[in-house]
Amino acid sequence: MPSSKKKPQQPAQGEPSNPTAPAVETTDPQTNKPNIVDIHTHMYPASYIKLLESRNTIPLIRSFPGHPEPRLVLLPSEVPLLSNPSPTHPPGRPLTEAYTSLDAKIAFMDKHNISISVLSLANPWLEFLSTSPDPSSLLEPALRINVEFEVMCNQHPGRLYFFGVLPLHPENTLCALPLVLSMKMKFKHCRGVIIGTNGLGKGLDDPDMEDVFEMLEEDDLPIFLHPHYGLPNQVFGERAEKGEYGHVLSLALGFPMETTVAVSRMYLSGMFDKFPKLKVILAHGGGTLPFLAARIESCIRHDGYLHKKEKEGRGKIKRSIWEVLNSQVYLDAVVYGEVGLKAAIQASGERGVERLMFGTDHPFFPPLEEGEEEWGSVVMNTEAVNKGLGEGSKEARMVLGENAIKILNLEKP
Ligand code: URA
Ligand code: ZN
Repeated sequence: MPSSKKKPQQPAQGEPSNPTAPAVETTDPQTNKPNIVDIHTHMYPASYIKLLESRNTIPLIRSFPGHPEPRLVLLPSEVPLLSNPSPTHPPGRPLTEAYTSLDAKIAFMDKHNISISVLSLANPWLEFLSTSPDPSSLLEPALRINVEFEVMCNQHPGRLYFFGVLPLHPENTLCALPLVLSMKMKFKHCRGVIIGTNGLGKGLDDPDMEDVFEMLEEDDLPIFLHPHYGLPNQVFGERAEKGEYGHVLSLALGFPMETTVAVSRMYLSGMFDKFPKLKVILAHGGGTLPFLAARIESCIRHDGYLHKKEKEGRGKIKRSIWEVLNSQVYLDAVVYGEVGLKAAIQASGERGVERLMFGTDHPFFPPLEEGEEEWGSVVMNTEAVNKGLGEGSKEARMVLGENAIKILNLEKP
């Protein structure tokens, strides 16, 4: 169980960690365009790629006859396709240099006017690794990956930061803690941690996660919560299982639902009340949370079991989901449209526009035609902000960059 020790006061939730910092000028004086900060941008460092190359079960890298590039097969929805791969559409996606090369990342940033990227290891993280016979064996790959990210950041001062990875694993509940403790000390460019929805294997409402949350809270290291598992294959039916719909259902629906379920469980279990200074950044605009928050709230208020429990003094969630959304939760702006963008802002409270941070999800969703240099998926996201908030407006600049600089304590470009 977490200890009761507490560190000195941290900034109140909802406030940036450097509230006294001067307003950040995030417009490039030469181009007069806003400097964009991308907080949702992934890479697979060399040591992780090596791990995947040695594997026979997902996540893995495999070559398929007739396809020049090896393919990255990550998603549980792709498992049925692995045993009988289609010669024309094998599972996975081409492992291009966009996933692995820092030069490619910087070129992508330059192309899309991105001044700063907060890199993170893409899904899945490390829970697939075997910890047998040594339960602490995950610490080493986690450390190595974080070192690789730190080295990358050092190569481009002021342009790169990262969310570190933790060695979270069901058989290995305490192994993450020393790393969390030393994260800030060891890694100058670390601004939080990316974690999946299953935590130590039982989700984020698992009491065993309390130690991890407590340390992250104490160290003011935000969690970037990102999906990977989607929904069970049966939900999407046989035709999806045969690959007829590509990745659409798992990525468009499975991913956001997974995030929504994970954060709702965290909320219902009282984790946000227990760790009121823990910051959680939700991927993909919070999944479906902005749309479903009112329904969740209503279901809680009208739930006979919870009502009785509260009446009998056996526990109550102290704050509404709205209060948590506008104090502890931050959303990325990876929503691809104005409607979702506005919902994300509204759900985040009166000052919701201060809680949204731009992201690209690079290198996923690349252009599919040769010669297309600009990434359509990024353009959709940028346009959603510009159309929804007004191109060049103060609010658009906040979402495109200023918020991330304040919330994640980045140096201004
Ligand atoms: N975006 C991600 O971050 N991961 C995927 O696997 C697909 C899209
Ligand atoms: Zn992502």
